[in-house]
Amino acid sequence: MAYLQLKGIEKFFGDHRAIKGIDLDIQPGEFIVFVGPSGCGKSTLLRLIAGLEHIDGGTLSLEGRDITHLPSSKRDLAMVFQSYALYPHMSVYENMSFALKLAKEDPAVIKDKVERAAKILNLTPYLQRTPKDLSGGQRQRVAIGRAIVRAPKVFLFDEPLSNLDAALRGQTRVEIAKLHRDLGATTIYVTHDQVEAMTLADRVVVLRDGLIEQVGTPLALYDHPANQFVAQFIGTPQMNVVPLAQLPAAVQQLAPAGTAGGSMGLRPENVVLHPSGQGAIRGQVDLVEALGAETLVYVSTAEGAQLVARLSERTPLVAGNPVTLDVATDHAHWFDATGHVVRRKAA
Ligand code: ATP
Repeated sequence: MAYLQLKGIEKFFGDHRAIKGIDLDIQPGEFIVFVGPSGCGKSTLLRLIAGLEHIDGGTLSLEGRDITHLPSSKRDLAMVFQSYALYPHMSVYENMSFALKLAKEDPAVIKDKVERAAKILNLTPYLQRTPKDLSGGQRQRVAIGRAIVRAPKVFLFDEPLSNLDAALRGQTRVEIAKLHRDLGATTIYVTHDQVEAMTLADRVVVLRDGLIEQVGTPLALYDHPANQFVAQFIGTPQMNVVPLAQLPAAVQQLAPAGTAGGSMGLRPENVVLHPSGQGAIRGQVDLVEALGAETLVYVSTAEGAQLVARLSERTPLVAGNPVTLDVATDHAHWFDATGHVVRRKAA
């Protein structure tokens, strides 16, 4: 049996069905990341699990116990918000110990738990400061510390790093990964950030319009997306998707049966560029972005398609140069007219 189980979970805001029947089994210790475009229902789903919103349909259970309508305080889950939500007049120590104090925990136990959490999060030198005297990253760690001391069954994170600058976000992401490794606590994490999803998750849940599009390990989603939406949502720059009609006849012939009216997808790193003359698709360079470790080359093809190639080496190409591209069929994804993947039958 799953540790945390969602069965047919639904949420309405007035007439708007924001969550449309979600089924998901989460195993103990798993790190699950919810991703999806703005408004797809990530935060709402997390808030339903946290008990901060009423569940209108379906059931939620934790270790086999139905908690669908249990108040948030009784769910044994701890949530960390994007906004930190710290008490400004309390010290770090008081912020972290507040929930335990309310629960009338023994002061010696509280001290031990707070000190241990502070040590894990490198907050020991700051225990007597108030939040205004901390950096954004330190405040976020206090918010995480406050969750840790409660030793919840499940940690819930709602875009915890989105207020931090890029460098701090990277650092804190690594800390969260270590924390999860050390504590082994079941975690559900909402983010917009591809890199966070790919690096932190055991499994990623891709949501769209209140429904799950696909669930899988980060690389399974990257390598075997079930449809064009997931294919283009996971990965930066996003997968090139070219309508079959905009491919030369020689490439169209490679498409498996069932793709009529559909398209071909190719990750930027799988586009093979040649100087003019040798490849299957003819085109012209529109733009070259030299990023140091890699180079992105944007190409318009003779048939009017746009593609981006990611090269791991530098290139002498410049805008206006003619090029040709090869399609490595091993790496091509084929979509039918509705955007679903059509798998190539093994030869
Ligand atoms: P973002 O990435 O922009 O935070 P999200 O995926 O977390 O988006 P939600 O905040 O869960 O999306 O919202 C899902 C849908 O429910 C949206 O259409 C939103 O407008 C709607 N919604 C969310 N909260 C409420 C509310 N309190 N009242 C009415 N509609 C709401």
